[in-house]
Amino acid sequence: MAPGDPEFDVVVAGSGAAGMTAALAAASRGLSVVVIEKTGYFGGSTARSGGGVWVPCNSVLRQAGVRDSAEQASSYLAHVAGDCVTPERQRALLDHGPAMLDLVRSAAPVTFAWVPGYADYYPEAPGGMASGRTIEPAPLDGRILGDELDRLNPPYLPAPDGMAITAADYRWLSLGARHPRSIWTTAKVAGRMAVTKALRRRTISLGQALSAGLRAGLASAGVPVWLDTPLTGLVTDGGRVSGVRAIRNGQPAVIQARRGVLIATGGFERNAAMRAEYQRQPIGTDWTVGSPGNTGDGIVAGQDAGAAVDLMDDAWWGPSIPLTGGPFFCLSERSLPGCILVNAAGERFVNEAAPYVDAVHAMYDKHTDDKPHIPAWLIFDQRYRNRYVFAGLPPRKPLPRRWYAAGAVFRAESLAELADQVGIFADGLGETVRRFNSFAVAGKDDDFGRGDSAYDR
Ligand SMILES: Cc1cc2nc3c(=O)[nH]c(=O)nc-3n(C[C@H](O)[C@H](O)[C@H](O)COP(=O)(O)OP(=O)(O)OC[C@H]3O[C@@H](n4cnc5c(N)ncnc54)[C@H](O)[C@@H]3O)c2cc1C
Repeated sequence: MAPGDPEFDVVVAGSGAAGMTAALAAASRGLSVVVIEKTGYFGGSTARSGGGVWVPCNSVLRQAGVRDSAEQASSYLAHVAGDCVTPERQRALLDHGPAMLDLVRSAAPVTFAWVPGYADYYPEAPGGMASGRTIEPAPLDGRILGDELDRLNPPYLPAPDGMAITAADYRWLSLGARHPRSIWTTAKVAGRMAVTKALRRRTISLGQALSAGLRAGLASAGVPVWLDTPLTGLVTDGGRVSGVRAIRNGQPAVIQARRGVLIATGGFERNAAMRAEYQRQPIGTDWTVGSPGNTGDGIVAGQDAGAAVDLMDDAWWGPSIPLTGGPFFCLSERSLPGCILVNAAGERFVNEAAPYVDAVHAMYDKHTDDKPHIPAWLIFDQRYRNRYVFAGLPPRKPLPRRWYAAGAVFRAESLAELADQVGIFADGLGETVRRFNSFAVAGKDDDFGRGDSAYDR
């Protein structure tokens, strides 16, 4: 370290929700803080995300009239996290989560709303809630950030100009015209888009709204966010982390931290070597919808300073289709009636409507011939296509030719022909469809219990 090095009480590396929330918390205690961000954009994967926040017993849920208790939430968390997360950490989330959210609500212009009916992922588990505990940021006019809005990491799926959809909207929009609420929600979203255009607003939602709101909070608190400033290592002094090494203005630099350094540099989804080392095969750095800057730098810096790591083999997984613009993360597409997910043998291997992380765990499970169920294929018929939104396309709209050309989607007039094109065992697929159709008639999936959980529905 040198006398001219910039110095703060707290240095935060990474400008996702974790880093920006921590920086807000430190600033609210009167500490001087800087956020350093590797890329030219703030927001990280948070800005690409749904922005849903799961913090039981928070003030937003209370105000929405959601009945919950610390005991219920604690049994649920213990059931879900099991032995993977220590009881102390589980308690920390429950004890401090609500205060964290209140801090964000008071220090940043983010308004949150409950997402009614977005069930907990295991609503039938002890303490689980079918009505859900998820809250999300309300749509926000990005103009509050001025020119800095251009530095917001873009969403991974570009939406038509001015279109802002919430998770609460998505639940109904995905149903096409199958429910009166869907038609009403489509009208509401179109109205919001028209107002946005007429008033020249830049309305944003989901993780975009969360990231922009947090960034606006930092601006009000006077916390600088230095873009294009990657952390390259930690500086230690007598066993204590006393600063960070970084590249600043294209030059190696040291930033001193009087009180502490917070590493919030996201995951390692874009680091081929780490993915190969820690995760199951097949895998690749293009198998992600996460942020381009997330190459595990902070994890490596921590390890270099002697930190332990845990749960490196697991992730926020989601079944995705490799469309031409990049992977498309399937959510409602898997759950809606009229589709099945099969492996190369043409067999189902999971409840299609299962939580996305569980669905990918099942994809990596070994099949009888010792191969994982990868690639898996989502099979649906024209009736399904005519009814529901698929990968952002309205019902009935033909899938783009380029998706066919890229081999991401196939179509055929019969199951046997389809199986042949895709390379699935045709007899297996035929038998699976016959069996699944009998479940559909009976209203009960005897193989995987699809639809049994409130989450599926
Ligand atoms: C499509 C999608 C939808 C999702 N939906 C939800 C949801 O609704 N609810 C939910 O809870 N989770 C959701 N997730 C997961 C969630 O987005 C992430 O777990 C969360 O955003 C991680 O936040 P973070 O702040 O830790 O990291 P990030 O938001 O990824 O931020 C990390 C930042 O650190 C920066 N960085 C990396 N290396 C360095 C370095 N060396 N120096 C400085 N900066 C560095 C990165 O560029 C990035 O800006 C979703 C994820 C995706 C991709």
